[in-house]
Amino acid sequence: MTIATKIPAAIPRTFLARSLATASSVTEKFQSASAAEAPSPALDLSDTQRLFASVPTSALLRSLAVLSAMAAGPLVDLSTGLLRATAASEGRLLRAAVFGAARATVNRHFCAGEGVEDASHAVRAMWHETGLRSILDYGMEDAEDGAACDHNLAGFQRVVEMASSLPPASTSVCVKITALCPISLLERVSDLLRWKQKDPSFHLPWRTHSFPVLCDSSPLYITPSLPAPLTEAEELELQVALQRLSTICKQCQESNIALIIDAEYSSVQPAIDYFTYSASQEFNHVEQPIVYGTLQTYLRDSRERMVNAFQAAENEGVSLGLKLVRGAYLTRESKLASSLGVSSPIHGSIEETHRCFNDCAAFMLQKVGRGHGAVMLATHNVESVKMTVTKAEELGIRKDDQKLQFAQLMGMADGLSLGLRNAGFQVSKYVPFGPVEEVIPYLLRRAEENRGLLSTSKLDRQLMRFTTFSNFHLLIKSNVLLILSCSKHLTSKLPCLISTGRSS
Ligand SMILES: Cc1cc2nc3c(=O)[nH]c(=O)nc-3n(C[C@H](O)[C@H](O)[C@H](O)COP(=O)(O)OP(=O)(O)OC[C@H]3O[C@@H](n4cnc5c(N)ncnc54)[C@H](O)[C@@H]3O)c2cc1C
Repeated sequence: MTIATKIPAAIPRTFLARSLATASSVTEKFQSASAAEAPSPALDLSDTQRLFASVPTSALLRSLAVLSAMAAGPLVDLSTGLLRATAASEGRLLRAAVFGAARATVNRHFCAGEGVEDASHAVRAMWHETGLRSILDYGMEDAEDGAACDHNLAGFQRVVEMASSLPPASTSVCVKITALCPISLLERVSDLLRWKQKDPSFHLPWRTHSFPVLCDSSPLYITPSLPAPLTEAEELELQVALQRLSTICKQCQESNIALIIDAEYSSVQPAIDYFTYSASQEFNHVEQPIVYGTLQTYLRDSRERMVNAFQAAENEGVSLGLKLVRGAYLTRESKLASSLGVSSPIHGSIEETHRCFNDCAAFMLQKVGRGHGAVMLATHNVESVKMTVTKAEELGIRKDDQKLQFAQLMGMADGLSLGLRNAGFQVSKYVPFGPVEEVIPYLLRRAEENRGLLSTSKLDRQLMRFTTFSNFHLLIKSNVLLILSCSKHLTSKLPCLISTGRSS
């Protein structure tokens, strides 16, 4: 296996741009390409020309420009400050100018446009041209009340409907529970679940049978005092919210589309897991799960929770689908912990987070190897991917096994995605879309991740420079050869042209 330390970057949106192909012809096309072009390595990121064969140099250059600008710390501080201020402002001219600039730059790089049509176009083209799948991520605001939740439900339903018209297997859909259930209720439910974990005799009349969402090592101190029970109205609201999720799952099941539930922050995550497990119990009785939850391995209690939930699911014949991530709410978690005067629920060092991610991945691969559950490794970390690929090989998990998938975000680590796909693995890109105003929190998180010269995109930028330089070099070389051969041709014809007196 060869893994170069340089990773190429960014599949820009412009190269996501042509017609539809059937699932089987696309799969065959990329499988035969892999078989013909990669004789031995399982994962080879070193041949950048092969990795980026389908990306025009102009598109690479634009991505390089966006990522390089984002690496400049002061520029990012200025732009993110401006975006935040504009989002909070009423000034129409200011909003038009700032959102217009964001639309043409970062939004174009990290998102697939504003509407369902844009996203549909992007998914088809990505599948057709690269064999990469998409996970449609419709940017929705957190819901404050039932009306907002119903509005969001209708939006998610439109997305699933659109996804079902796309080539089979080309796409799945993700949802945020904070868009389907009012935040205040998710906080209340999370507090009550934490109290129940603290005191098993505490009665929760609304709680249906569920896999464990918390464990002994969970940060129960986040709920310092006995929470009031849910009122009748709250219980009803909870049932309605669970029903909203169930409606989406049913629609996904009918179209055989996986539904991925994102993880968010500690004050609401126990409730989110409760929603996830209740949907898993309803829809995951077949080997290939419809519903996937998300485990944030930067949380100290993540491994123990995963093992407990998995055990319970296995006992009941439920196939648990898990997306593994490190976690994106570092600042928010630290702020919450310090406001409560408690220690952060996040591992004390990044090394511990890396170890935890790799341990959880190894656990899930063992399970998949024995035919239980499914895992999606959502990461840009090359070392974790390398470890996973090796482990999957050791366990004899086939690269085309649908129960092992990789995922990266649109506009990030595209070389890694393409390398994994070339090696025959199942790979998806998270494809966010929606009005600029609504994807601002997402764009701010990406800006933070790509900020600074040593940011996540450092390897992407290096390899893009290398690839574009090579492309220009080839272009110049081929033009020089063309000029030389033309002049040779003309020189050989010159005596004849002179003698006949012809000119062009
Ligand atoms: C397809 C996909 C889906 C995602 N879905 C979600 C989701 O549902 N919920 C969610 O929360 N995130 C989600 N993320 C984001 C993810 O959690 C990470 O923020 C991001 O992917 C960077 O992590 P990495 O695995 O790529 O690793 P790396 O590139 O190695 O990045 C390490 C990251 O770990 C973080 N970190 C963790 N622990 C520590 C610590 N103790 N000290 C310092 N830094 C630490 C840093 O902020 C850094 O960004 C998703 C990512 C992808 C690719």
